[in-house]
Amino acid sequence: RKFLEEVKERKDLYNRLIELKGNIRVFCRCRPMNAQELEAGDAMVVEFESAKDGEIVVKGHVSSKKVFRFDSVFTPEENQELVFEKTAPLATSVLDGYNVCIFAYGQTGTGKTFTMEGTQDERGVNFRTLEELFRVIREREGLFRYELTVSVLEVYNEQIRDLLQPSGAAPKRLEIKQQAGAHHVPGLVEAPVSNLGEAWGVLQAGSKARVVGSTNANEHSSRSHCMHCVMVRGENLVSGEHTTSKLWLIDLAGSERVAKTDAQGERLKEAQSINKSLSALGDVISALATKSPHIPFRNSKLTHLLQDSLSGDSKTLMFVQISPNEHDVGETLCSLNFASRVRGVELGPAKRQV
Ligand code: ADP
Repeated sequence: RKFLEEVKERKDLYNRLIELKGNIRVFCRCRPMNAQELEAGDAMVVEFESAKDGEIVVKGHVSSKKVFRFDSVFTPEENQELVFEKTAPLATSVLDGYNVCIFAYGQTGTGKTFTMEGTQDERGVNFRTLEELFRVIREREGLFRYELTVSVLEVYNEQIRDLLQPSGAAPKRLEIKQQAGAHHVPGLVEAPVSNLGEAWGVLQAGSKARVVGSTNANEHSSRSHCMHCVMVRGENLVSGEHTTSKLWLIDLAGSERVAKTDAQGERLKEAQSINKSLSALGDVISALATKSPHIPFRNSKLTHLLQDSLSGDSKTLMFVQISPNEHDVGETLCSLNFASRVRGVELGPAKRQV
């Protein structure tokens, strides 16, 4: 009982913080310069002097500088563990019955996959969140019971593809249906998982299927949204209360603008679908942040799929990933502007003179 009280206390505290700050967070993460860029002597245009205060400064041409403010800013030196320290409370929120969406947004090559998927040695948000989920589930054993299922899908050219369907099965085109006020994707595989190993195995099987189905895996993955959904059904064994919540872990398609003259045929169609879904996502999140009466969920498959998880008292975290390189400054400014708009906070005058 004491433990339950503590859990409730923490939950209340967190909710009070949410009320104060809103339930949409934006973290900005900058990748390091890579060996090639260092060798070429490329300049860095991003400054981190006030990163601890959530500020990032981008040097434009000549002497102009632009300041952006986010909930957290991670410098190129800050590792996966540090990033996860600030992300971990969301895993507990899912087990408390909240819907949670975690996105990585940005230009291709800025570390979206590094942040979400990570590598074998430097695990990303996906693995660490699953690990945290199962850690808290163990901690709550005897007081709560949880059942988890995992789905993996991608959205490419405004079509939803199930990445867990049995191999050899003909690709199914999935649609979103609304039933009793909730949005479902009938036929989507939901794999039951009972520990970290199983859950991670399912996520990896999904990633593999994504690669198998495409001729150029890298290009394909930068042009489609990769979405992992963990469905959590919980039961409070003391009060008998039941909760159902969803955790979405999403590696978005690259946000780079495609020059109109470069794109034709299939490439143009891809670019248009990405544009459509990313701007729909921006519109939806900023409409939610500013408590607009109309939230345009239906404008893309991505936002339609996430409708239940983004509305209500759900919690959203977006990583805006950027490059420090002078040659990427145009895309960097676009991403930071997008992320500021998403946060629903108009940019005020800079705190300091820069
Ligand atoms: P994206 O998914 O946005 O296209 P990637 O995650 O593939 O980008 O990252 C591009 C490259 O940069 C990869 O080799 C990745 O390992 C590296 N990288 C990105 N972010 C970091 C970081 N914070 N620390 C170290 N390496 C990084």
